[in-house]
Amino acid sequence: MTTVGILGGGQLARMLALSGAPLGLRFLVLDTTPDACAAQFAPLLQADYRDETALAQFADRVDVATFDFENVPAESARWLADHVPVFPSPRALAVAQDRLAEKTLFRELGIPVPEFAAIDSRASLDEALARIGTPCILKTRRLGYDGKGQFRLRSADDAGAAWDALGAQADTVGLILEGFVAFQRELSVVAVRGRDGELRAWPLTENWHESGILSASLAPAAVDEALQAQALAAARKVAEALDYVGVFALELFLRDGVLLANEMAPRVHNSGHWTIEGARTSQFQNHLRAVLGLPLGDTRAVGHSAMLNWIGTLPTPLPVLSEACGYWHDYGKSAREGRKVGHATLRAESRQELASALEQVGLALGREAQVAAVVERLREA
Ligand code: AMP
Repeated sequence: MTTVGILGGGQLARMLALSGAPLGLRFLVLDTTPDACAAQFAPLLQADYRDETALAQFADRVDVATFDFENVPAESARWLADHVPVFPSPRALAVAQDRLAEKTLFRELGIPVPEFAAIDSRASLDEALARIGTPCILKTRRLGYDGKGQFRLRSADDAGAAWDALGAQADTVGLILEGFVAFQRELSVVAVRGRDGELRAWPLTENWHESGILSASLAPAAVDEALQAQALAAARKVAEALDYVGVFALELFLRDGVLLANEMAPRVHNSGHWTIEGARTSQFQNHLRAVLGLPLGDTRAVGHSAMLNWIGTLPTPLPVLSEACGYWHDYGKSAREGRKVGHATLRAESRQELASALEQVGLALGREAQVAAVVERLREA
């Protein structure tokens, strides 16, 4: 019997546990809160990630450890790695936790990135603003997610307000200034690398965000082979440079035929949730296979899929479940503003059928705005 330990007990850990059940896997989840939603399916060890007594208990009870949450302290990951195999490695985690480290790596690897500069004082913000220009975004280097810890600057006059909002964090989590990319599309490549170095990627996914949070995804994205190859080449370079093991996502901006790398998520990713029903092997299944050293599954898409995120509260599932290939995912969380509480995936044989199904669901749920851009993309493709 093999037990997989997961640091973080959110919906990603929950979906990993669900996906691992047919492989006969057991799980142990370490989370700071008693109501972590993965604990509905896997035993929970409730403790702080820095608690070495709890980490020792965790290491004793698992055969391999992985993450549902990238902001586990790097020292805790390193401590664990001295006691049990940890995938992805603490080094990969440390790079992906830090927007400056990951953008520096992308640039070293020849992957295009938005303009960026490290900010450690008000003076360095002014210098960087003069070089990068506006519009731009001041972001925390670490611990930001879903658009949190970000301040958009429309003109240099916003520098004072940006510094008031985030300046105090320059000495703790660090800051980075990024040029604002006037992208045509947001895409992501979700890929998996095995312990033996084999790399596979799912088809590119197009993503739409609302207030910095993923709102909808479409896969396969309606893009040509050249972009697909560009994304795969970038994913391969990053994975090999980090000797990465497991699933990861690269978030990309498409601007004038070029993909610019925004960030890397060192874990299964929200833009890969469609793979549960829309690919021959899901990201969750392949992540488990990768960290356990098992053969990777086929990542090809089955038809066309769209994923809709439910943020704050869940709508009624009936319109989705009434579709021929409509799938519902309730994460078992209580409602809270800005919280990801579930998602739905719609799958169809053709883009036109998917557009009709999406339109129907959007109308029935009063979510016309959420589906509109996806429907438009499907109709123009
Ligand atoms: P992030 O937390 O970096 O993934 O940012 C959340 C969202 O904000 C992204 O998905 C984009 O929609 C937007 N965003 C972040 N950085 C940039 C940028 N440099 N240029 C344009 N949009 C951005």
